[in-house]
Amino acid sequence: TPNHDYRILDAQGAADYLAAHPALAAHLGGTPGEWTCRDVADGNLNSVFLIDGPQGGLCVKQSLPYVRVFGEGWPMDINRARFEHAYASRVAPHVGTLAPRIHHFDETQFITVMEKLEPHIILRNAMLAGRRLPRAVADVAEYAARTAFHTSDLAVPFERKFADAGVFSGNLALQRITVDLVFTDPYVESGRNRVLSPHLDAWAASLREDSALKAAVARHRLAYLSKAQSVLHGDLHTGSVMVTPDDTRIIDGEFALLGPTGFDTGTFIAHYVMAWFARSAHEGSSQENASFRAALADDIVEFWNVFATRFIHLWQEWDGENDGTPRTHFTSGTDRQALDAFRRSYVDEILADTVAFMGVEIIRRIIGFAQLADFTTIADEPARARAMAGALSFARTVLLNPGRFRDVATLVGALLEHE
Ligand code: ADP
Ligand code: MG
Ligand code: MG
Ligand code: MG
Repeated sequence: TPNHDYRILDAQGAADYLAAHPALAAHLGGTPGEWTCRDVADGNLNSVFLIDGPQGGLCVKQSLPYVRVFGEGWPMDINRARFEHAYASRVAPHVGTLAPRIHHFDETQFITVMEKLEPHIILRNAMLAGRRLPRAVADVAEYAARTAFHTSDLAVPFERKFADAGVFSGNLALQRITVDLVFTDPYVESGRNRVLSPHLDAWAASLREDSALKAAVARHRLAYLSKAQSVLHGDLHTGSVMVTPDDTRIIDGEFALLGPTGFDTGTFIAHYVMAWFARSAHEGSSQENASFRAALADDIVEFWNVFATRFIHLWQEWDGENDGTPRTHFTSGTDRQALDAFRRSYVDEILADTVAFMGVEIIRRIIGFAQLADFTTIADEPARARAMAGALSFARTVLLNPGRFRDVATLVGALLEHE
């Protein structure tokens, strides 16, 4: 049924909306005449406004019936706001202050009102400016570990997981975007692709003809669709993380689904890898760039190590391993060794998936529709193409040689050799 109440907000409309909701208006203080509003939308899909009053501010996000960056010619289900809200609610008990607080959700207007993050900036922009955020990587790893563990069969009864599957399997429009833009378009001729022509035309053609690579991607498309391991954020790139030097928040969970844990971790690492390749062509002294790139490589290692350590630790804690009341059927001394080995193998499998999804994410960001500022800000096109080709080559290597990357040191070692 058509929703006659739905109205697309502009900045003033967002302020009016808050004014009409006393509990929200109270966060801002003063009178609506004293408020200021800013349109800060910079993502691909939705409207985002920040409203400030004398006592505080709020962030208002609304989904539009189309893809914001494209316009009305690309319709997009507004229900994505519901899935973003369902995801935020599902993970809130586990992530604490690693996500913004949600104050209000309006399922008629598809509006979320949340904590305004300021002076936070988007992690990608911080990295582009050559800034290192000391906590970001460990915090995102912590977030990924907690969401992955606490929504998996390791921590919840299957009834709960199937209920989550029921909710997020409705997120059809955005899962369709992922299936098409991530797992399909880069390997076919698609009008949505954005190949840096003519420099990368041969690369794009070679991807379309690379049967072994396409088989690896097809395998992981199936895993994305069928490996119901944990509730995923689904879009966990450096543009979905807002940071200050001492605070990290993960936003924008509208792509949420029940899927393979390595999809989130692989996506995140992919953006560090692409920042690493892009950095070679950025302005600044070569020494500055070299040390920034070394730091990015360290960040990848830290991200994985924190994720793996925290995941195992959460698991041990959950099993009551250290408080003498084990909750598993692994209770004898030899069981304990088997359990440790099982845990390691579980995390090793997440790493294997992480590496593969990382490769898939890199390829789609270079050949496909949604391009990254990391590369598009490189004005010198041949230099941009070289950086992109390096990343493509690395992605192809990891996808074609899955057995070679069984630990993060090997992965980063291969990255450093990939110049
Ligand atoms: P989209 O789904 O369109 O990608 P995002 O949720 O990523 O939208 O938000 C787009 C931009 O709005 C972010 O890049 C960030 O600059 C800003 N933003 C989003 N949420 C907040 C918030 N809670 N506080 C401050 N700014 C925010
Ligand atoms: Mg309130
Ligand atoms: Mg976004
Ligand atoms: Mg989004």
